[in-house]
Amino acid sequence: MHVIIVGGGVIGLGIAWRSLARGVQVTVVDPEPASQASRVAAGMLTPVTEANYGEDALLRLGITSRDRYPSFVAELEEVSGRDTAYRRDGTLQVALDADDLAVLEELRRFQESLGLTAETLTGRECRRREPMLAPSARGGLFAPDDGSVDPRRLSAALLAAVDRLGGTLIRDRAAEVLTDRDRAVGVRLAGGDAVHADQVVLAAGPWSHELKGLPPDAVPPVRPVKGQVVRLRAPFPFLSGTVRGLVRGSSVYLVPRADGELVIGATQEEMGYDTTVTAGGVWELLRDAHELVPGVTELAFAEVTAGLRPGSPDNAPVLGPSALPGLLLATGHFRNGILLTPVTADAMADTIATGETPEVIRPFAPGRFRD
Ligand code: FAD
Repeated sequence: MHVIIVGGGVIGLGIAWRSLARGVQVTVVDPEPASQASRVAAGMLTPVTEANYGEDALLRLGITSRDRYPSFVAELEEVSGRDTAYRRDGTLQVALDADDLAVLEELRRFQESLGLTAETLTGRECRRREPMLAPSARGGLFAPDDGSVDPRRLSAALLAAVDRLGGTLIRDRAAEVLTDRDRAVGVRLAGGDAVHADQVVLAAGPWSHELKGLPPDAVPPVRPVKGQVVRLRAPFPFLSGTVRGLVRGSSVYLVPRADGELVIGATQEEMGYDTTVTAGGVWELLRDAHELVPGVTELAFAEVTAGLRPGSPDNAPVLGPSALPGLLLATGHFRNGILLTPVTADAMADTIATGETPEVIRPFAPGRFRD
């Protein structure tokens, strides 16, 4: 069994590694692996605070994936010899006013109804946990099972694992899916060469719908959703875990890393494929972060980046066999692609190796949009 994976972000690389581990021959095609959303992302592993009401199936998938993270990264770090900066130190959702407190109370009830652990904290308890928080913090909700990972280190570890297990990486763009008797049989590269395989997986983020040669009902319904992120650098551990808050109705988060990096995100903009970083975006992020944690403005400015989330019509990923036999889709992970990497990688690798789609990803089949 030989599979071509188009796209080497966390999703394509995750599937590549797990497929190699199942004895499948793998070729990844990407002009610049891990250069897009997977490089920009903050790396929060927070299924509940990211889910909207009504997205129950997505929430369950997120929780499953979050709970697989410890064993996924342990195995990956061993195979690759690289650290992923995974930490399971919880998320503190902070309320700054009475309206926020009401939102938090609703969130707490929602979490409780799902049987999830969440601790309600007073403003003082929040500050005891995170001394850098604004004195105006009125209360908070602490989700101890959440965590974070550094997506850049995760991607580098996945690339190393794919290499160690004998995967092939072709640094070119796939321009077209090749078909023979109504079945995907490979891809044509932008450079003109054809590469053949038994199956093709499209994991090219918001570009997944651009390849030529696809029948209309096999084209994934993905679009780019721009997000800007600011990276600061602290000389000491600035926060003990991820802090999130609502400031004037807009959500802001701060994700600390052990090496002193602090990631502040993220804007959400429907701007097509534009990835310009704007003064307004940076201002909005720093303004909101400063209200939650005033000391951020003392830190060194490291970087600002913009990336494109692969959005789908229902905010959930598009996973599994497409309408074109031999072509599988793994895209549309929107705001949760880092979180969903373990569950996507395992379920897609099982589908590739056995031809059977595991139960856990069936609600996310590409066919759900056809009607
Ligand atoms: P990408 O990382 O975009 O990778 C797609 C790859 O396909 C790229 O390497 C590209 O070069 C390649 N490609 C494109 N076209 C072709 C082609 N024709 N041929 C070959 N290769 C091609 N998720 C979380 O879980 N937690 C977070 O905290 C989080 N924060 C985020 C913050 C921001 C600002 C953004 C933008 C995203 C965030 N996300 C987060 C979402 C997450 O980054 C994405 O869902 C995830 O990275 C998607 O991974 P991917 O591999 O599908 O896409």
